[in-house]
Amino acid sequence: MTEVRVRIAPSPTGNLHLGTARTALYNYLFAKKHKGKFVLRLEDTDNERSDEKYTKDIIDGLKWLGLSWDEGCDIGGPYPPYRQTEKIDHYEHIADKLLTNGFAYLCYATPEELAAMKEEQKQKGKSIRYDNRSRDLSDEARSKYEAEGRLPSFRFRIDEPQDVRWDDEIKGPITVNTSDLGGDMVIIKSNGVATYNFAVVIDDIDMQMTHVLRGEDHIHNTAKQLLLFEALNCKAPHYGHTGLIFDSNDRKLSKREHGELVHIDFYRIEGYMPEAIVNYLIKTSWTPPNDWTSANGTDEIFSLIEAEQIFDIKRVSKAHARFDMDKLNWYNAHYLRSLPLSTVTERARPYLTDFDLSECSNAELEKLVGAVRDGLTKLSEIKAAARFFFGNLVDVPLDVKEQVLSSDDARKVLGETLSSLSKMPFEDPKGVKHVVDTLGKELGIKGKNLYWPLRAALSGSTQGPDLGSMMSVLGPNKVQARLKAALSNGNGGSHV
Ligand code: GLU
Repeated sequence: MTEVRVRIAPSPTGNLHLGTARTALYNYLFAKKHKGKFVLRLEDTDNERSDEKYTKDIIDGLKWLGLSWDEGCDIGGPYPPYRQTEKIDHYEHIADKLLTNGFAYLCYATPEELAAMKEEQKQKGKSIRYDNRSRDLSDEARSKYEAEGRLPSFRFRIDEPQDVRWDDEIKGPITVNTSDLGGDMVIIKSNGVATYNFAVVIDDIDMQMTHVLRGEDHIHNTAKQLLLFEALNCKAPHYGHTGLIFDSNDRKLSKREHGELVHIDFYRIEGYMPEAIVNYLIKTSWTPPNDWTSANGTDEIFSLIEAEQIFDIKRVSKAHARFDMDKLNWYNAHYLRSLPLSTVTERARPYLTDFDLSECSNAELEKLVGAVRDGLTKLSEIKAAARFFFGNLVDVPLDVKEQVLSSDDARKVLGETLSSLSKMPFEDPKGVKHVVDTLGKELGIKGKNLYWPLRAALSGSTQGPDLGSMMSVLGPNKVQARLKAALSNGNGGSHV
């Protein structure tokens, strides 16, 4: 049996897009499932828009998601190069063959003439297409254009009307009529550079791709590419087209409409867990088998490794996916809570550089992250959530002092807690909370009236992690110093 070979082929003309990341995931899973190869190829023939910084972002983003490729950029493999710009001569050589066989011809139309042609079509309400004007140029006309110094492009003949059909791995049977393909297509531009549709076919042949899985915005390209495979007398890969990702207003997720939200990098910077992005993206258009549940006991939450074992391209939806930030945040909050504390702590460090981390040991930092992570949606929020820990004392805003710390009951709670510190098992948050509850009972004070003065005196805010965890993280010395400060300050609080 032929080995399955799939690829992700991003154009480095922008940062890694969520849609490209999802396509990469489906290709990766497909390769894993079939014990095949997953290749990274960079489609960088658009030399005006391609940039090394985007290449770096794409590679970093794919790695951050936990994807690895068997061949391709930065890795090598049996079919290099994996950048199209290194194959310019090869594409031209094959285009020459198509020219010789009559599948292609030279087109001398200038950009101005083509623009005028389109304008006229627009005025007449016709669909915009190339009118195949250079198909059968006489030798005389050709010589005249050459004498004028015009540089030709290579165009591939697309006979019309004609049905191009394939059995799509995701969408089932698809038919595209060649009349809808915009006329004979450029395969080599007048500057000698191959177009996407041409280079991609040569690359898929050279790299022996067996399957091409990509977004449905490529369906017309697939029809064009199948015609090229036929002309080159090569076996085409199997194609599968996923729906795209839309927002709640039915707009395709795009940089123009949605800005940085469409880029993986945005989520990396904001402190999303790659596991959450991977789980969310896979789940947007793929459903695990009906009788399957992950180690987590649900079919919603699964790891990349679990998905590798059960992925089936037939279970990828034909429909568009709906991007839902709330759902993504739900996934992220889940992973922030459930990943090993040591992993989350390491990932949290870059968000805590405002603080003097030498103030706490690794174990203390883990304890702090453990106390606050339940309240986070993403790691960029940890700076605000963890602030209470740093410094010996804490700033209590005036309104909090007045509203929460000024009553007699509040002072009783603070005073009584201070006297009970020696009874508190600080290493055990529940034990600490129990001591507070007991003293509250003795004072006849409970709920907000009991907890808020303590929270305010200890952290400057009535919100935050559970009281027992907060006190346990702060430890006896800081708790004592802050309670004393709150009491001695008339109505509480003091400066760091
Ligand atoms: N460079 C194309 C893109 O980024 C890849 C399409 C394909 O997979 O053939 O959309």
